Amino acid sequence: MADEGRLVDERRRYLLQQAELGGSEVVLPRTAPASKPSVEAKPSVEAKTSAEPKWKKDAPPIPGPGLTVEPPALTLLSGDPFADLDSLDAIADRIRAVHCCGLCAHRTHAVPGEGSPKAKLVFVGEGPGATEDATGRPFVGQAGKLLDEIIAAIGLKREDVYITNVVKCRPPQNRKPLPDEIAACMPYLRRQLALLKPKVIVALGGTAGEAMLDVRKSLGELRTKVHSYGGIPLIVTYHPAALLRNPNWKKPTWDDVRIARQLLDR
Ligand code: URA
Repeated sequence: MADEGRLVDERRRYLLQQAELGGSEVVLPRTAPASKPSVEAKPSVEAKTSAEPKWKKDAPPIPGPGLTVEPPALTLLSGDPFADLDSLDAIADRIRAVHCCGLCAHRTHAVPGEGSPKAKLVFVGEGPGATEDATGRPFVGQAGKLLDEIIAAIGLKREDVYITNVVKCRPPQNRKPLPDEIAACMPYLRRQLALLKPKVIVALGGTAGEAMLDVRKSLGELRTKVHSYGGIPLIVTYHPAALLRNPNWKKPTWDDVRIARQLLDR
């Protein structure tokens, strides 16, 4: 046994000498042969990164708190005309049946909203445009296509979320809804949100942000904060129609929706 060990040592010394002298017949392993990976081996950082959803890469941190708004409580005893609306369909039927402001007289279709009644994420736009008025469905025109892409980019499908607007009838020439039109329609949105109880709300554009938070502030002031709508985190971002006009706003919007997505996962 001892002889065999000495022989191995001598052979090794000889081969090292040959290698040092540049002997071409000798190839010494530079490192020890790779051992079999153990079953408990932890996944490499690389593997972890590739399993991470794309939207998470370089996502901004969740920002600090912003404004807090408490929507009025709904009770049957308060005589509230919306309190008996106990399903999203009942709300939609009422919206289609009733004229609550000057916008209703000019509509082809009211646009109550659509999506999953179990949605944890709700998008709120400003008001229906021409395609929405023609179809009775929210965000189905050019801006809607972009919204679909935004939803897909954060790993969701349109059917997973709920999409609605502050006003449910199209303002003429797509003008901003007036304060009294917003005031007349807000109870529908409040009731929709009271039934949906989403985990996160995204207000699309300054008009939706201002209406939901009941403030007069610029979009710049409302973005990058986590507001509270009756305890539900609310993020305000650019309206998709604004992104069609100014693609430079796509990146900040991408950051905003990734904040919303993180809040959803919290
Ligand atoms: N813009 C909105 O604010 N809402 C829609 O439904 C469509 C376009």
